[in-house]
Amino acid sequence: MKKLLWKLCFSYLLLAVLTLGISLIIASFLLKQFHLDQACHQLEAQARLFRSSVEKNFALSAAEINLLCAEFSAELGSRITVIVATGQVLADSEKNSAEMNNHADRPEIIAALAGEIGVSLRRSHSLDKELLYVAVPVRKNGIVWGVVRAALPAKLLDEQLVFHSRLLLAALPALLLAAVASFLLALRISRPLEEIEQGVLRFTQGSLHHRIHVAGPLEITSLSESCNRMAAQLDEQTAVLKKQLGLLESTFRSMAEAVIVIDKDGRLLRCNQAAGRLFGFDPAAVAQRDIQEIIRHADVQQFLERTLKNGGPTEEIIAVSIGPEKILNAHGCLLRGEIGQDGGALLVFHDITRLKQLETMRRDFAANVSHELKTPITAISGFVETLRDGAMHEPEDAARFLEIIARNVRRLHAIIEDLLALARLEQDEEQGQISLSWKAIKPVLENAAAVCTQAAEEKGISVELTCQDALKAQINSALLEQAVVNLLNNAIKYSSAGSTVILQVVKVTSDGVVISVQDFGCGIGKEHHARLFERFYRVDKARSCKLGGTGLGLAIAKHIVQAHHGTIVVESTLGRGSVFSIRLPL
Ligand code: ADP
Repeated sequence: MKKLLWKLCFSYLLLAVLTLGISLIIASFLLKQFHLDQACHQLEAQARLFRSSVEKNFALSAAEINLLCAEFSAELGSRITVIVATGQVLADSEKNSAEMNNHADRPEIIAALAGEIGVSLRRSHSLDKELLYVAVPVRKNGIVWGVVRAALPAKLLDEQLVFHSRLLLAALPALLLAAVASFLLALRISRPLEEIEQGVLRFTQGSLHHRIHVAGPLEITSLSESCNRMAAQLDEQTAVLKKQLGLLESTFRSMAEAVIVIDKDGRLLRCNQAAGRLFGFDPAAVAQRDIQEIIRHADVQQFLERTLKNGGPTEEIIAVSIGPEKILNAHGCLLRGEIGQDGGALLVFHDITRLKQLETMRRDFAANVSHELKTPITAISGFVETLRDGAMHEPEDAARFLEIIARNVRRLHAIIEDLLALARLEQDEEQGQISLSWKAIKPVLENAAAVCTQAAEEKGISVELTCQDALKAQINSALLEQAVVNLLNNAIKYSSAGSTVILQVVKVTSDGVVISVQDFGCGIGKEHHARLFERFYRVDKARSCKLGGTGLGLAIAKHIVQAHHGTIVVESTLGRGSVFSIRLPL
């Protein structure tokens, strides 16, 4: 901006100098012209004066006229010459007329001889200097007899114009004044512009709340107001954009689906956190990198190639093994809009592993249920056929077959009861209908033990219960009793006769309580522990069926514990017995 100040200052000064200079030249020219006119008038008056003397004294000799010329010249200060019609010089105040050339060819003489006033500014051949001549015709009896000429050295004229230089001197203070005025004027424009520049600089640095306040010419103040209005609008638009961007960003971040945007060369433009989590990379560290470097998985890369080639939307189910195998529902489409003009694609991966697992579980469950129901139904229909084919007439066989039929009906009943219990549990859990209340645990355990008393007594097994009377937890008494009954039943079923089953609260901490059911029976091999709580999972199917098991007892127990926000675990050693522990939060 300092540059602008000096530029403006110099321009104004140049303008002032030019104006002053041109004015001076014109003034000087006019002045010179004025002086020339003045001198001409003066010389003409002198010539006319001398002419009247000549016209009165035509009888005078040349010497006398010469004398007269000299007297006049001394009196008036100009050179006086008398020339006859032939151009011959009769008398001259400065030079001997006899030595002078014929003057018929001099412009002022030609004009005067023609009866006019001759004026000429030229070099004198006789005196060899610049002279201003004015010649008037001298008439004798109405005919031009000759010419009287008055002349003045041009140098004298110039001397009269000596004050031109004074004029120049007088212009100097004006010039100085113009310089100061130029500086002040330039400052008046450049200073507010400088302030506007500073303000705009602050706008570009992001301070859009800043406002420019300048005093100065109207155009500059309205420029600053326009800048302020522009900043306010920019501020508003930036806020709207920021809000929209924030909304988009948080939507992008919150999405459970992995979203990846790539350009036509397969370089990653954007991706969200879910994509990083799914494919195991840091989204902040992979921008602009080749997608093939980031996701080293053949199926994903092939899907990407197909999307870029297809043009239209592409959808596929892809199985990727990044850690545990994951099933992904992949959607891909080409980018539209401004970014899309250069090509590129949007890929969305939805992790449907859990969904697929649930689907598989549901399928397996349906198959298992059919299979579980099919066995007793086949047995029942088989024995009914046998009875119909004649076995019912043999009382001993008929009684045995009917007992088998009854046992399978009980089994069917037990399976259906357990399935219904599970379905009810799931439904209640989904609808949030399982109510928990702060109740004592001991009565629940006592009731569960009482339910199993008969089965325990049949095998001569003693059930030992240890629990503090005052111990309370958030429970649903009926459901918790059902879970403990299932565990106790198993403990009794898979223990040898005469052994002991211990039901106790083993651990009470500030945040939880652990109820355990311990037996010293056959135990369970480690390889089965992980699947033990699945529906219809049995370690020894024949044994379970023989003992009237449905394969659903532990699944029901697990569901009940989950409804209590607790966990259930098993510790067991083959041949030594098992401990099932229910952990309930307090
Ligand atoms: P079941 O009706 O067959 O007992 P569960 O779901 O209750 O079904 O148990 C699943 C399987 O776990 C049983 O078939 C059995 O093999 C094993 N099991 C459960 N509890 C015990 C235990 N206390 N001791 C040994 N095995 C057990």
